[in-house]
Amino acid sequence: MPTQEQILHTLKEYFGYDSFRPLQEDIVDSVFNRNDNMVIMPTGGGKSICYQLPALLLPGITLVISPLIALMKDQVDGLRANGVQAAFVNSSQNEKEQQEIYQQILDKDIKLLYVAPESLSFLDVMLSQIEISLIAIDEAHCISAWGHDFRPAYTQLGYLKNRFPDTPIIALTATADKATRRDICEQLNIPNAKQFLASFDRKNLSLEVRPGNKRIEQIINFLKDKPNDAGIIYCLSRKTTEMLAEKLQVQGFIAEAYHAGINHEKRAEVQEGFINDNVQIVCATIAFGMGIDKSNVRWVIHYNLPKNIEGYYQEIGRAGRDGLPSSTLLFHSYADVVQLQKFATTSGNQEVQMAKLDRMKQYADSLSCRRKILLSYFGELIEEDCGNCDVCKNPPSFIDGTIIAQKALSTVVRIKEEEPIGTVIDVLRGAQNAVVLDKGYQNLKTYGIANDISWKDWQQYIIQLINQGYLEIAFHLNNKLKLTSLSKKVLFEGEKVSLANLAEFDKLKETAAEQ
Ligand code: ADP
Ligand code: ZN
Repeated sequence: MPTQEQILHTLKEYFGYDSFRPLQEDIVDSVFNRNDNMVIMPTGGGKSICYQLPALLLPGITLVISPLIALMKDQVDGLRANGVQAAFVNSSQNEKEQQEIYQQILDKDIKLLYVAPESLSFLDVMLSQIEISLIAIDEAHCISAWGHDFRPAYTQLGYLKNRFPDTPIIALTATADKATRRDICEQLNIPNAKQFLASFDRKNLSLEVRPGNKRIEQIINFLKDKPNDAGIIYCLSRKTTEMLAEKLQVQGFIAEAYHAGINHEKRAEVQEGFINDNVQIVCATIAFGMGIDKSNVRWVIHYNLPKNIEGYYQEIGRAGRDGLPSSTLLFHSYADVVQLQKFATTSGNQEVQMAKLDRMKQYADSLSCRRKILLSYFGELIEEDCGNCDVCKNPPSFIDGTIIAQKALSTVVRIKEEEPIGTVIDVLRGAQNAVVLDKGYQNLKTYGIANDISWKDWQQYIIQLINQGYLEIAFHLNNKLKLTSLSKKVLFEGEKVSLANLAEFDKLKETAAEQ
């Protein structure tokens, strides 16, 4: 086990940093203690150091599994420029190139080896001839069908723990809700992994949602006080990115479209231009931004509703990496919701995708602090409203919702957290349908205690309770409603709950639906 001094010396010598960021040091220590580790840190949080630094001080090789073949070369080049002995193996190389790398590995000239999951089985023989000190699994959410970026090749990775039982594994991801997190550990066979959850709170990002009518006009207005600031506009379709880039060019902005249908050279050019501040605005489909290290992106706009909160959060997270105030704006339109519902029904795992889209929609419709919603989605509960989202800046009127909340929460307790929203409302309203009667819910003390509130209003109240962190949806358990650590404050400690006045909510919805 290296000393603290050796560790800090290596951090400075190879990476040029004087100190660790929050959690990095604990994670590195945990790796040296040979634990399995699960690291959840937002994009830009500094995950790489957590395995790159140990790799330099461990006796054998560190295997890095990464899905981003396109980025492997850049990562490895970057490391080599810092004097780190790194290499990659993937399907983009010919046999001769691969043979050369194998030789370097056998000669112990490589400390970090990046591998695409698809290539692992080809490497099996070679791997049995060398000492593997650590296995890092980057973008670990790709293993989970609960996640938002499922890659079938990742599901094979479960064999690594059986194959190398004594080698510690470190799984890293930026985008995991609780269900995904649990699933990752299960599938990788690392049930006792130490969990490291960095804060996802990015206080410097302002959050705003607006109805998506006359979007181009709104964007041009939005840009009035940011004439030269770099930003990204995310769109659902390739066509929209091109249309938008053109309209912005006409207005005098240096804007470019970026999507998977544009040829490789042009894409590289746009990306370079953006990084070097020669292109101000990139209108992109989701493909843009992965692995781009540009710290002064000042704003991000979502022209269309994203399909889930993980993706949304990752994309707005590309703004303000330097910590300076940055703006984000999401356009909410019901036409997008319909479109996304169609996508979801044709995807595998339809129910999960639909539930995630529902959460996204609830976020956009929310009348409570949006940051609270985002953070509670990632399992982080904050008590105070953030003051830096549109709801906080322009709050709706509230009613005392304490009794409403108590009724809902105690119903969830009595049905033993076994039902989704719809059934909870049915019980509260005393419905006499098959689900309720079959399970004997009509005998519960809270059955029918709140039939003075309409079904639709109950739905809104419960969404608000979820958004405020008093309840959560278990996506991995048929979307059952679950209690949270805040629930008991309402149930047993007399905590007051404010709920937004639904009359205002109806008004807002009408404006969004008008277009
Ligand atoms: P992630 O993989 O979590 O998105 P990276 O590992 O790419 O994040 O790191 C994000 C940025 O933070 C990089 O520019 C990196 O150089 C910088 N960084 C990471 N750790 C430190 C540190 N201890 N001190 C200063 N900068 C750091
Ligand atoms: Zn807020």
